[in-house]
Formats: sequence, structure tokens, C-alpha cells
Amino acid sequence: MQNQATIKHTDVVVIGAGLTGLTTAYTLKRRGINVHVVEKMTRIGGQIQTHRMGDYIVESGPNTGVVSFPEVTELMNELKETSHGTCLLEPAVKAAKQRLIWKGNLFHVLPSSLIGGLKTPLFTWADKFRILGEPWRRKGQNPDESIASLAARRLGKSFVDYAVDPFISGVYAGDANKLITRYALPKLYNLEQDYGSFIRGAMAKAKQPKTERDRLATKEVFSAVGGLGQIPKAEADYIGIDHISLGATNVRICPVEGQWQVEFSDQQGQAVTYQCRQVITTCGAYELSNLLPFIESQRLERITNLNYAPIIEVGVGVRNTEGLNYKAFGGLIPSREQKKVLGILFPSACFKGRAPEGGALYTYFIGGVKHAEMLNMSDDELQELVEEYFHSMLKFPSHIHPESIHIFRHSKAIPQYEVSSGARFDEVARLESKYPGLIIAGNLRDGIGMAHRIKQARDIATNIQIQR
Ligand SMILES: Cc1cc2nc3c(=O)[nH]c(=O)nc-3n(C[C@H](O)[C@H](O)[C@H](O)COP(=O)(O)OP(=O)(O)OC[C@H]3O[C@@H](n4cnc5c(N)ncnc54)[C@H](O)[C@@H]3O)c2cc1C
Repeated sequence: MQNQATIKHTDVVVIGAGLTGLTTAYTLKRRGINVHVVEKMTRIGGQIQTHRMGDYIVESGPNTGVVSFPEVTELMNELKETSHGTCLLEPAVKAAKQRLIWKGNLFHVLPSSLIGGLKTPLFTWADKFRILGEPWRRKGQNPDESIASLAARRLGKSFVDYAVDPFISGVYAGDANKLITRYALPKLYNLEQDYGSFIRGAMAKAKQPKTERDRLATKEVFSAVGGLGQIPKAEADYIGIDHISLGATNVRICPVEGQWQVEFSDQQGQAVTYQCRQVITTCGAYELSNLLPFIESQRLERITNLNYAPIIEVGVGVRNTEGLNYKAFGGLIPSREQKKVLGILFPSACFKGRAPEGGALYTYFIGGVKHAEMLNMSDDELQELVEEYFHSMLKFPSHIHPESIHIFRHSKAIPQYEVSSGARFDEVARLESKYPGLIIAGNLRDGIGMAHRIKQARDIATNIQIQR
């Protein structure tokens, strides 16, 4: 038991100093609400980590986000001000709109126009003609239809193999046969349900009037000047180091007399207790059994059974490309092509200062749900693989070699919104209603991308009411 004298008081405790937790705490503090963040690692940022390695700026988690919601622009505008200009949104250069897909022995541009669509070797002629009938195809009746099944029904098998499958590898490191459309890609699901067709839905949406706020969702690919790590850093600076406990162990949340207590041991091993009105968890589902010991394990299992894709990310720096420059966002590799890599991003082609002048930075993604066993590859095996694809896929001549190779392993990288997701979302809602003041947030619900994380955090922080 804690000594009463050691109990500290605050309005809200946020568990986790990743993007969701820090954005929530940052926004609460801006509203004048007292907040304390408890983080088990000895660093902030969660999955967002930017590393300066010699002349390269290497991301070991996300490399880019998309400005899909106004909340992203609003947050970045606020951070620009509170960081005194040190945290600045960096939109990707125009060339980053181009995506490449591997087929046969080379990368092809993913078409974005009708002419390009007709010319591309990625899709069969049968499917190219078939797509003309998409607006008149019947809408699906199965609410739990997988992304692969829905796309095959509306677009055709070659679109699944050479557009949907690689897209799902790139975003979810997942399996399009297992991800359920209404949970994993709700906007796509709603296009079919609301308009009967992707094409008709997209056209109708494009015609809808947009408010000034809607226009803040620019759909641009973004990073921050100097790397994504600038975002959590600027948020933490504003929150203040006294309001963030790093290196917390044995973190437990308990309801006590209409309030909440968060207990943990700090970095010096001292027991600390915070009493608060609201507590918000933003960590992975697999952490919740230890964090919420007062909830029956059977109930919690509907949340903690969430499956995560493992990913190995490898940052590869080249000092001198001898003019071989890819002007694109990156290349994705369809499962059918049976390569040991999911995709290769080209960060130095999208953002400034990521590699030395004349050089380049590439980020390889390996593993995912379909190749979870690859997480066991040794560093030597991974280096060999990276070198091989450097020549055979990126087409560097044999005398050019990577100057630096940095390997980052994530055993639980991306949550998979599979068929169990409905039960998980219901259970979260049920627990939040049974235990007022408890919010179970993070990427176990409301989307997996950075923009989703920012939107969720802003929504939560804006809606919290503290009676004084
Ligand atoms: C390899 C990789 C590539 C990605 N690529 C992209 C991309 O290109 N674009 C994109 O938009 N998104 C991408 N993402 C997803 C994006 O990184 C996440 O959506 C986002 O960073 C998650 O933020 P979060 O705060 O919700 O979770 P996290 O960053 O996981 O933060 C949760 C925090 O909680 C802490 N914590 C856990 N348990 C406890 C506990 N018991 N007590 C206290 N603290 C605890 C953790 O240490 C962590 O700091 C990628 C993710 C990975 C791993």
C-alpha cells in the first residue's frame, strides 16, 4: 500500500508518451487542464524515433504521415507557435506522389490517370475493361467482408494482386484476406455502402462543398523538418519534463472512491501514486491486463487478443548514387512476386537533408504478418538481403555499395483490424461506460496511422470536462 503522503494530485493522467499520449496531454495543457504523462520507456515518442546517423536522418518507425484530417494541420500550426519555429511540418516534394509497384523484374509506376491505367502492365486487359463496369456492380451484403474479397468483386483479381495487396503491405504490413474493410479501411467501405460504387462515390465526394476547416485535410504526405521525432519533442517541451514520468515500471490503474489512482515505481525505484479524475491509456492492447488489474480477464481478452504485425525496418545510406535517383515515394512489392521485402521507401527523394548531397537514403520494410518468421533473421542475414536487393531491385551497379545499414526490429508494429475488431470496439465502449473517467485509447481503435492518432487525441482532449 502507498503512504497517503506520497499521493500527488492532477486532473488527468495519460499512460504512454507516444504520439497519441503526448498529443492528448499537449492539447489538454493548452486548455488549462493539469495533466501528467506516465511512460515505461526512458524516452518519449513511442514508435516515432528519428536518429541522426552521420550525414543521414533515419526514421526507425513511421517515415511519413498523411494530412488526412484537419486536426493534423491544426496541431502542426500550434506546434510551430509553441516550439518557436523548431517543429515545422514538411510536405513531401511533388514527385513523392508517384508510387512504384514491382512486377517481373522491375518497378512500374502505379497509374493515376485513365491513359496510364490503360498502358500499365500491372493489370490484365480483362480487368482494365472490367473496371468500366464498376459503377454498376451490385454492392456487397457481408459487413465482415475482407479487403481482398471486396476489391476482387469490384475491381478484379489483378487489381487485388498488384494494387491492393502491396498497398495493404505498405500500410498494415498485413494480409488483405484477413483485414476487414469496414474496420481497416472504413472510408472505402462507406463509399460502396453509401454510393454503391467506389467510382461514383469518389466523384460525388469530390463535388461536395468543403468548409474552410475541411480544406485543412490536404491529403499531403508529410514529415517534420529534421524528422518526425521533432513532433513528440515539441509536444513534450510544452508539457514540461516535470509533468512526464519516464522509465515508470509496474504501472497500475485503480478506481478509488469515484476517482482514479495510477501507481508506479519511478526511475529511482520510488513508489509514486497520482490521483486524478480521468485516466487515458494509449499503449498497445497487450499492456492492458497488467495496467487494469480490476477488470475481469475474460472481458479484457476481447481487447488484448488483438494481433500485431511484426516489422523489420532497415535504413540504408548511399554516399554517392552516381546519378541513379528515384523520384518517387517508394516501391511496393506484391506478395505474388515472392520477394523477401514488403517495400522500399525513398525518404531522401521526398524530404530535404535526409542524405548527403549526391547520396540517398532508402528504407526497407521486411516481415509483416505473412512473413513473421523473418524477425528471427540475424543482422548478417539481413545485411546480405539488403545488399542483394540494392543491386537486383534498386539496380545499383556492382561497384556501388551502401555506406551504412541500420536495422530496427519491431515485434508488435501495426495492429491488424481483423474480424475480432467489432467485439474489441464494443468492449472498449462498454468498459468506458461502466468506469466513467477511464478512456482506453491508442491504435487498438480509431485507426493505425499517425493522422488517426492525432485525430483521436484531439477529440479526446477536446471533449474532456473537468469540474472544479
Ligand atoms: C515500423 C513502423 C512503421 C510505421 N509507418 C507509418 C507510416 O508510414 N505512416 C503512419 O501514419 N504511421 C505509421 N506507423 C504507425 C505510427 O507509428 C503509429 O500510429 C503511432 O506512432 C502510434 O502512436 P501511439 O502513441 O498510439 O503508440 P506508441 O507510439 O506505441 O506509444 C505508446 C507508448 O506507450 C508506452 N507504454 C506501453 N505500455 C506502457 C505502460 N504499461 N505504462 C506506461 N507506458 C507504456 C510505450 O512505451 C509507448 O511509448 C508505423 C509504425 C511502425 C512501428
